Amino acid sequence: MKSTKHFDVVIVGAGFAGMYMLHKSRELGLTARVYEAGGGVGGTWYWNRYPGARCDIESMQYSYSFSEELQQEWDWSERYAAQPELLSYANHVADRFGLRSDIQFDTRIDRAEFDGSRGIWRVATSVGDAVTARFVILATGVLSSAQLPMIKGIDSFAGDIYHTARWPHEPVDFTGRRVGLIGTGSSGVQATPVIAGQADHLTVFQRTANFSLPARNAKLTDQQRQEIRSNYPEIRRFAREQSRTGVYVPLPDRGALDDSEQTRRAKYEAQWERGGLGFLSLYNDLLRNRASNDTAAEFVREKIAEIVEDERTAKLLQPTTHPLGAKRICVDTDYFATFNRPNVSLVDIRANPIEEIGPDGVRTTEGDHKIDVLVFATGFDAITGSVLKIDIRGRDGQRLQEKWADGPRTYLGLMSAGFPNLFIITGPGSPAGLTNAIVSIEQHVEWIGDCLSHLKAHDITTIEAGREAEDEWVALVNEVASKTLYPLADSWFMGANIPGKPRVFLPFVESVARYRQICLDVAEQGYRGFVTNGARQVRKAAAT
Ligand code: NAP
Repeated sequence: MKSTKHFDVVIVGAGFAGMYMLHKSRELGLTARVYEAGGGVGGTWYWNRYPGARCDIESMQYSYSFSEELQQEWDWSERYAAQPELLSYANHVADRFGLRSDIQFDTRIDRAEFDGSRGIWRVATSVGDAVTARFVILATGVLSSAQLPMIKGIDSFAGDIYHTARWPHEPVDFTGRRVGLIGTGSSGVQATPVIAGQADHLTVFQRTANFSLPARNAKLTDQQRQEIRSNYPEIRRFAREQSRTGVYVPLPDRGALDDSEQTRRAKYEAQWERGGLGFLSLYNDLLRNRASNDTAAEFVREKIAEIVEDERTAKLLQPTTHPLGAKRICVDTDYFATFNRPNVSLVDIRANPIEEIGPDGVRTTEGDHKIDVLVFATGFDAITGSVLKIDIRGRDGQRLQEKWADGPRTYLGLMSAGFPNLFIITGPGSPAGLTNAIVSIEQHVEWIGDCLSHLKAHDITTIEAGREAEDEWVALVNEVASKTLYPLADSWFMGANIPGKPRVFLPFVESVARYRQICLDVAEQGYRGFVTNGARQVRKAAAT
């Protein structure tokens, strides 16, 4: 009979979360196997190879801090690294820590079922492996389940169709082609200027105008790198223990309306010139007070009007449907200026929706657009999408899909009641999605690592979220979100971008620092709110 392999830990995904979780598991002396659907490491940066893809958080902060040697030896070339460099970094980490020997690529986890009698998970893969594990750790990513809208006639399109999050490994040449791009979130906003520079014509189909800020990307000098490196202890400490979003930026001490209009404007101007997401950190109430938010939103709308020459196009590009930041702000290089090019046009599909796609283009209610290549930058089934693609069955065969039918339920975003020994890195109900992803990943991996050590030290076999603690946490996540402007936007934070997805605010809108402290306190208080079972109890349950 074929024997089933057993691991202490099965990790799903070899992005930045899965790689660090593997490293941590080994440090703890655990046997671990990572399963990765892609052909290489890097997660987001493996899949999102579209032209213009780059980080929107400065690379020297969007990088691992767990190894001093690693952060001292890696040279980031630009303020915001482009996708190829981020992928090289992921590969470097995999090689440096010898991770590949425990990663199985081109393999999805299809199913994971908890066997309560033995206190283990039975895991089935897309290539027919069946393994068991004490712990399953989902490192499936916040933005990994790409969504391609089922627009009528899409299958009849005669040209090539690409999705930004499933971009081919070979370069795509748009020379001489008429390209249609659907979607104006971060991906579309980054891809637009690059595709426009190559294509014969680019038509951007916009449903919702988005706020975008200039990146002001630049090469990093040796001196800049050295300054940051020598300040790393403080930068990393601040990001973890004091920051709102896991980024080293000064914390605002006042609301936007506490400053005179002149002072406020000067701050907005200076930040616009500095570039990047720091805009939201200028004041402490931009995401809480609509009047404050309006001042910033109006400033950005004015900038768009200054940049875009055609008045009608400028008007269409000015976001009016949601407060600034309630959808994730984009960070761009020449996005708005691209619409001044003679080979670029903007189509308003909010006013004139797409009716269907035909062999040679897109028909909106306003008319036909001839297209040779279609690029979908239509985003992701975020935060829960990749978790729920797996058929996960917990205690008594309960399916996670059923449990989460009306929205995800977790305690701390880390575990869900009824699913013992199943951890989620950057899960729903944690601040992930709103934060510097690597800071959130490291915090979760380290918390889970400490938890696994605790279980071992105390001869505990299973741990799971308690129902009461979970109910309280879900209520808190909702309560905190309701005090902000976030719910005012139809965003992926709300599940609003996926037809039929429950509208629930998915992340915990608290600062990275406060959330981390809550998680630490819970652990310190003997994993308050979690339910644990000793080895003896599990054996007894099995015998009855
Ligand atoms: P997104 O923000 O969800 O944007 C998707 C776009 O597609 C939106 O403009 C959306 O319009 C449009 N869309 C979706 N379905 C459509 C349909 N059926 N018909 C027409 N338009 C449709 O996705 P994303 O741009 O891939 O970005 C997702 C997140 O990934 C970002 O918010 C960010 O956190 C991350 N990201 C970061 C970077 C970076 O700079 N490092 C780059 C890319 C992505 P509506 O707004 O009307 O729904």
